[in-house]
Amino acid sequence: MSHLPAGTMREALIDTSAITENVRHLRRLTDSDVIAVVKADGYGHGAVRSANAALVGGANRIGVAEIAEGLALRRAGIDAPILAWLHAPGASFAEAAAAGLELGISSFDQLLAAAAAASAVRAVAVHLKVETGLGRNGIAPADVPTVFAEAARLERIGKLRVVGIFSHLSNTSEADDRAALARFEDALALAATYGLTPRVRHLAASHAAFEIPEARFDCVRLGIAIYGLSPFADRTSAELGLRPAMTLRAGVAAVRRVPAGQGVSYGYTHRTEGDTTLALVPIGYADGVPRAASGGAAVRIGGATFPVAGRIAMDQFVVDVGDHPVAVGDEALLFGDPTLGAPPVEAWADAAGTINYEIVTRIGPRVPRREAAR
Ligand SMILES: *Cc1c(COP(=O)(O)O)cnc(C)c1O
Repeated sequence: MSHLPAGTMREALIDTSAITENVRHLRRLTDSDVIAVVKADGYGHGAVRSANAALVGGANRIGVAEIAEGLALRRAGIDAPILAWLHAPGASFAEAAAAGLELGISSFDQLLAAAAAASAVRAVAVHLKVETGLGRNGIAPADVPTVFAEAARLERIGKLRVVGIFSHLSNTSEADDRAALARFEDALALAATYGLTPRVRHLAASHAAFEIPEARFDCVRLGIAIYGLSPFADRTSAELGLRPAMTLRAGVAAVRRVPAGQGVSYGYTHRTEGDTTLALVPIGYADGVPRAASGGAAVRIGGATFPVAGRIAMDQFVVDVGDHPVAVGDEALLFGDPTLGAPPVEAWADAAGTINYEIVTRIGPRVPRREAAR
């Protein structure tokens, strides 16, 4: 029987070698450079360790949503190129530029702000983001010629370096993504007419990196796949050659023998059917274990699978372990690598009506992350 380290209530084990190997695998598979996306604290895995592991695996660049995330990586000593693409109005491009961050540019105003952050000695590196149908940020089609013309002028006078042009897909259908791909190619052709020659053209995130080879261009921006999880509802990690990097577990905090008819947890949505043993698992929705998964999820204890009994609470939930010899301190495995016998994170996502991305990303700050090879 596995146990957690003494005094540890719950933890997320992060296998950084899995991230390294996933990146290596994806570089080979896509034959493209890789921007490893570590926004939202590395999808819950820890941004710094995820970025470092991805760089070891051959990632060429790190991607984050916000400037603050990029600055934190710089402070942690990561000196690889870092691209940040989602900005608050008035965000400090000067601070970003001083830290050598590359800025995703989604509007004419952002372009001017980036140029204003250039110093006498240093041009600001930008990636122009064009809207190709996702309906989020990105330079609006009507503004693209103006922004391209101004970007080319600012590059000529040494204020900016247009390192990249990029966009993002909706993954709605292959037809929708191919339509967006065609719009992206039109934007690249237009950029060339303004004298823009970006080295890093990028469109595909994990989904399209697998599905649409033509969308790979110079570089793919990979998030979920580097953590070993599948961007597809109908394909597993193993089928994609990926290894899940996060294992979530807690140590059984109490066991109690109860008679038939014992109500379990708030609202008594579960009552025991006969004499049985209830085991208390000390992790709850405050830790990112979704309450909505009550009734649909299960954990593994000692190689057997037990469904969650009753409602998941803020700090804990209960499993009915029948007559199995479960003891205080035993490991309750919520999810991990299914090839090693753990439930897949997708079982929790399905039970909660969401996707694997949301489960790992919402694992909360009360869950210590510990780096561990398996
Ligand atoms: C989050 C994000 C990605 C990574 O997406 P995955 O599906 O996790 O690979 C790539 N590009 C942009 C613009 C993003 O916001």
